[in-house]
Amino acid sequence: MTLRVRRLAAATLACVSLAGAAHAGDLPHESRVPGGIALIEIPGGDLPPTALIDARRAAVIRHDDRWLAIVGIPLATKPGSQKLRVTTGAKTVDVPFEVTDKRYREQRLTIKNERQVNPNPEDLKRIAAETERSNAALSKFTTSGTPAFALLSPVEGKRSDSYGSRRIFNGQPRNPHSGMDIAAAKGTPIHSPAAGTVVEAGTFFFNGNTLYIDHGYGLVTMYCHLDEIKVKLGDHLAAGELIGTVGATGRVTGPHLHWGVALNRAMVDPALFLDQE
Ligand SMILES: [Zn+2]
Repeated sequence: MTLRVRRLAAATLACVSLAGAAHAGDLPHESRVPGGIALIEIPGGDLPPTALIDARRAAVIRHDDRWLAIVGIPLATKPGSQKLRVTTGAKTVDVPFEVTDKRYREQRLTIKNERQVNPNPEDLKRIAAETERSNAALSKFTTSGTPAFALLSPVEGKRSDSYGSRRIFNGQPRNPHSGMDIAAAKGTPIHSPAAGTVVEAGTFFFNGNTLYIDHGYGLVTMYCHLDEIKVKLGDHLAAGELIGTVGATGRVTGPHLHWGVALNRAMVDPALFLDQE
């Protein structure tokens, strides 16, 4: 039995109808490392428990007749013991879990536009405002609809495995790579990987033409360097809907889609949501 079939079969058998609870059609792959995902069985009764990781709400679903927290582990997490704070009614308990080390590669890139490596004071003001907008989009936690934790690939193309790479731009260390780059020609259509709502869209200093989709339960995806954005703020999208086209806007070395996936505000490895056969 293939992994895909096994996962679908498990999900089909496991989904029970319970008012007020979220159901997963499918689950992401688990990887308890910085930038990964932990699937943690948690205690709870008839009502859904809530789970907090570093005071941030994590997704909780009913799966296989038990409560399961789907926890994004931030890339900056130090390996070792972590805990999830679980509350059911008036009762709160800590559920411990271990995060193991993962060594990510180093990536050296050359950017022609020096201002995109060392922005001027005006640029820094703009970047600060855009960071606030980005954080607001990534902080969404909506609970309507059915959560989708298995995603379609948003674009056809060669996927990089550079998630987590420590990045050196023009010889200077910068933030690690927090998403997946998918190389494709300018104009290649990009599709929504799951149902969701457009919660932010605009032209950003580093990320170029960018949009954010809220899929619910703390799962938010972002799309950067687009040539054209084909949706607008507030649009409700079905899985597979056209959202834009691949471009080379912002800080890039060539046309590609930068795809980011946030879970409880942690940018995790997008590959964990895709079929990996
Ligand atoms: Zn990227």
